[in-house]
Amino acid sequence: MTKIRCFTGEKIKLGSIISVSGGSAHHLKNVLRKKEGSLIELFDGKGFSAVSEIVSLKKSEVNLEVIEKESFTKKRGITINLGISLIKQEAFNLSIQKATELGVDNITPLFSDRSLIQSSEGISKLKKNKWNLIAEGACTQCGENWKPLINSPQELIGWAENESSEVKLVMFPGANKKISQIKFSTSVSLAVGPEGDFTRNEIDAFEGLNFIPVSLGQRILRTETAVISSLSAIRTLCDEF
Ligand code: SAH
Repeated sequence: MTKIRCFTGEKIKLGSIISVSGGSAHHLKNVLRKKEGSLIELFDGKGFSAVSEIVSLKKSEVNLEVIEKESFTKKRGITINLGISLIKQEAFNLSIQKATELGVDNITPLFSDRSLIQSSEGISKLKKNKWNLIAEGACTQCGENWKPLINSPQELIGWAENESSEVKLVMFPGANKKISQIKFSTSVSLAVGPEGDFTRNEIDAFEGLNFIPVSLGQRILRTETAVISSLSAIRTLCDEF
């Protein structure tokens, strides 16, 4: 039987009582109809997980006791830092969910010349919480014990300047090089543009910072499709798929 999993921001330790609220409590109580005594796998998004038992259910809170020594899962595969231009909310949320399922380490929302949102004023705290909840949900579903770090939105160039991965790529439909021509090793940073694409100036700036423009074929993909395709391609080219 598939294990029922639940994220916690608390430290998982044998014998400790962990309380979950909000959407996770609702899901355990009202959707899965779990009762006292039900076993749930807790994970903390930082590699630790352990079996726990529901000890009490309150109106909007579920308390679980950790009944097994916590185990640690190492990160798997190539380290991936993903920068995504800020696009429409629904498509951006989908990108976060799919990138989490495909196992990225970091996600940075990027302000670019043609991104829908141009400054932090357009980003509420609620939105950042929502992005984290989406990533937690995706980890819960796909069995990943590492949750990607979702950084605060940044200017494109500032982000690119600080990336120190061995391979740095910018997804660009007009690029001469295909992603399959890139040799990957242990880390990669990649940037995906907005609906209106990166501008020529932005691509030049990326190139100045040793980012290689690469193509994902001749079809123009939506940002969210480009996120999924580029990550799947990288995992395949790294022999992980
Ligand atoms: N509106 C633009 C396309 C933007 S697609 C046009 O018509 O040309 C949104 C983003 O997805 C792009 O900035 C790029 O990062 C990525 N992307 C989409 N299709 C791609 C492809 N075939 N190759 C590489 N990147 C692609």
